[in-house]
Amino acid sequence: MLKGIGASPGIAIGKVLLKKDEKIEIEKKNINNTEIEIDRFNDARDTAKEQIQELHRMTLETIGETEAKIFEAHRMILDDPDFLQQIESEIKSQEINAEYAIKKITDAFIQIFENIEDEYMKERAADIKDVSNRLINILQGVETADLSNLDEEAIIVSEDLTPSDTAQMDKSKVLGFVTEVGGRTSHSAIMARTLEIPAVVGVDGITEAVNDGDIVIFDGDEGKIYINPEDSIIEKYKNIKKRYEKFREKLEEIKGAESVTKDGFKVELAGNIGTPQDLEAVLRNDGEGIGLYRTEFLYMDRDSFPNEEEQFEAYKAVAEGMNGKPVVIRTLDIGGDKELSYLDLPEEMNPFLGYRAIRLCLDKTDIFITQLRAILRASNYGNIKIMFPMISSIEELRQAKEILDNTKYQLRKEGVKFDENIEVGMMVEIPAVAVMSDLFAKEVDFFSIGTNDLIQYTTAVDRMNQKISHLYNQFHPALLRLIKQVIDNGHKENIWVGMCGEVAGDPKLIPILIGMGLNEFSMSPISILKARWLIRDLSQKDMKEMVEKVINLPTAEEVKNFIDENIK
Ligand code: PEP
Ligand code: MG
Repeated sequence: MLKGIGASPGIAIGKVLLKKDEKIEIEKKNINNTEIEIDRFNDARDTAKEQIQELHRMTLETIGETEAKIFEAHRMILDDPDFLQQIESEIKSQEINAEYAIKKITDAFIQIFENIEDEYMKERAADIKDVSNRLINILQGVETADLSNLDEEAIIVSEDLTPSDTAQMDKSKVLGFVTEVGGRTSHSAIMARTLEIPAVVGVDGITEAVNDGDIVIFDGDEGKIYINPEDSIIEKYKNIKKRYEKFREKLEEIKGAESVTKDGFKVELAGNIGTPQDLEAVLRNDGEGIGLYRTEFLYMDRDSFPNEEEQFEAYKAVAEGMNGKPVVIRTLDIGGDKELSYLDLPEEMNPFLGYRAIRLCLDKTDIFITQLRAILRASNYGNIKIMFPMISSIEELRQAKEILDNTKYQLRKEGVKFDENIEVGMMVEIPAVAVMSDLFAKEVDFFSIGTNDLIQYTTAVDRMNQKISHLYNQFHPALLRLIKQVIDNGHKENIWVGMCGEVAGDPKLIPILIGMGLNEFSMSPISILKARWLIRDLSQKDMKEMVEKVINLPTAEEVKNFIDENIK
């Protein structure tokens, strides 16, 4: 059995189609007439552009605008004057064949990008590799493994999957995929979740461990992969798969139902989104609102700040799309693991403890004000709420609110309409705030608990560090105590308390959060219906009793075991 990172939920059972990265042997050839060779290169470029345009169209139709953007990036590489000039001059000066020149130049670019400690830049290296392989294959007349036209159902196993591979996949034949590289935020993982195809990424050694035709079983939640397993395991997972599929069908039936416990405690189940396109998944899964719109994605994948108009359009689209349901827009939360290539900041020893999110916005107020103006203007078109990330002190909160008040004043002066009663809330993701939540609660309209960061700051465990990931534990008693404290303090001041970290969608902790009285749960859209199903079967009174016991347990393991044993 191998283990990787569960990237997209679901069980996959089937035959392997091993997609080895064809190691194309490229011979260096001496060319006398370099003009003809440059023409060959340009013809290949035209063909590549046609292919990419087709992929863009297919992706737009079948997956979505965000994913299709990847191919715009590929086209941009093919039009990049610097890139073209370097290849042409390599052909000319070295008198070599186009394939060899392309490989040499693109390898140099790839190396530069791969060496930058930034996930986004590493993804750019993958894009250049994709474009380079396409050009070389065209020049050599090589047909690549065609994932759009599989003869039979298969689980794709490969070193990595390029966006082109994923976009071409025939979704009715691809049962799932497993890759050697990648994390939960790699392009292929994101696409898998959007397409609702089970996937596991980051599986060391998988391409060596399997052959074409092997039987593989995996669970896209757990990340475990069985290769040619015994019949008993196949049977076990077939049953799990059947149950999973039946369960998803059953979930369809509770679309439109209330998210309420058996004894009448009603909550809001909302979705987390990164772009306006993600809205569709929230609506499809019957989300009752957007509990977290991570606006930083609007600022990423580009080379300058988005202007007010562009932001306004994005926020308005989400507000209108939700048709009066609440939309919590979080102001820019850049820094930590999310960087902006065009914001040239010095490297930091501890980026997660550094110059990020609200700290940056309170420093560079022009960026902050532009965003606040866009959010306020969009509030005229739906039920928008504003949320500040990474607040660590009352001073910061007051400063942010003051800038917001000044921005409102300015808009009024300009005669621009906005929601005068717009709610203003904050993320609770730093222990200092949780501890002082009684005082913070007097100054905001709502709290949203960000467990992804609250866990890392409470337990001093870097959420990105693979080596200590076993210490990053959502069952840690300290976390549960802090969450309870925040909810209780919020309620004492009559404000609603939500949660938008991953814990909000965790089926094991949802009952505990119900017992604590959490009002709003915001999660990946695909988790919403399961959460509703769970909640409808709970009694809040019983869960309150569970909370009293859980909160006094000394270890994370005991918390987890207690939940496993006492809550079905
Ligand atoms: C969190 O920290 O829990 C959260 C929701 O924010 P992000 O994951 O964007 O840091
Ligand atoms: Mg956070």
